[in-house]
Amino acid sequence: MTQNLNQVALVTGASRGIGKAIAIELAKHDIFVYINYLSDKSSAQDTLEKIMGQNGQAELWPFDVTSAEESLNAVKIILQKSAGIDILVNNAGIRDDKLFAMMKKDAWQKVIDANLTSFYNVTKPVVKNMLKNRYGRIVNVSSASGQMGNPGQVNYSASKAGLIGATKALAREVANRNITVNAVAPGFIETQMLEGINLDAIIDTIPAKRLGKPEEVAHVTAFLCSKKSAYVNGQVIGVNGGMI
Ligand code: NAP
Repeated sequence: MTQNLNQVALVTGASRGIGKAIAIELAKHDIFVYINYLSDKSSAQDTLEKIMGQNGQAELWPFDVTSAEESLNAVKIILQKSAGIDILVNNAGIRDDKLFAMMKKDAWQKVIDANLTSFYNVTKPVVKNMLKNRYGRIVNVSSASGQMGNPGQVNYSASKAGLIGATKALAREVANRNITVNAVAPGFIETQMLEGINLDAIIDTIPAKRLGKPEEVAHVTAFLCSKKSAYVNGQVIGVNGGMI
């Protein structure tokens, strides 16, 4: 796909799970991928090796998306190395579930910081560059939990719903500069994030009667990152087996 030759993408949380599948998929389309992660270097290294194994190009780019300073610095250095960041996938995220009546302020704040404030920290410096270059694709990884609300996840649902609002508002601000901002909203996807959850009960509630695969989210995300999706803007695409 030569139309994407020489494009640069930053994928946050690309050491594992959905972010890893997105990084690997983007790299198949001649996109140079910066693989962000927080601390799991060996998993991030595995993402890099898988990309190189398919003749793709990528580099490890660890930083903490909850830190505005680290995020700004990480973006600045990429911009010194290349003309721009064409694609940003805000995927890094965490959960810390508890019934709301029992939820400590710390569990609220850390989930909001990782899943929503990270959007501000990373997207702000990137979108400035996209505005200058008059091109960009931003995909935010939200969640079905942000669309329908999930008991035990008031913090997580709030962060993911916030991400949907941010997606729609920013899309309207930048659409006339050839920049799209969309969200994918996965349902239950087979990753480490689901550890400790009773999946049998959940699978029964999914019309497809199975969990999703990270690659199924990656394919939709890659389309939203491509030039072909130019007229799709401010949208939330569910990848949820028919759950919503
Ligand atoms: P995962 O396997 O737990 O991976 C999370 C990734 O985020 C890891 O690469 C992790 O890096 C990174 N990360 C966490 N905090 C970070 C920080 N402060 N700075 C930089 N990177 C950080 O999770 P996943 O299931 O793939 O989830 C990916 C995204 O999809 C999340 O936003 C999640 O909310 C969303 N989602 C998942 C599901 C699901 O069912 N799995 C459903 C809906 C939405 P390290 O490896 O270094 O810790």
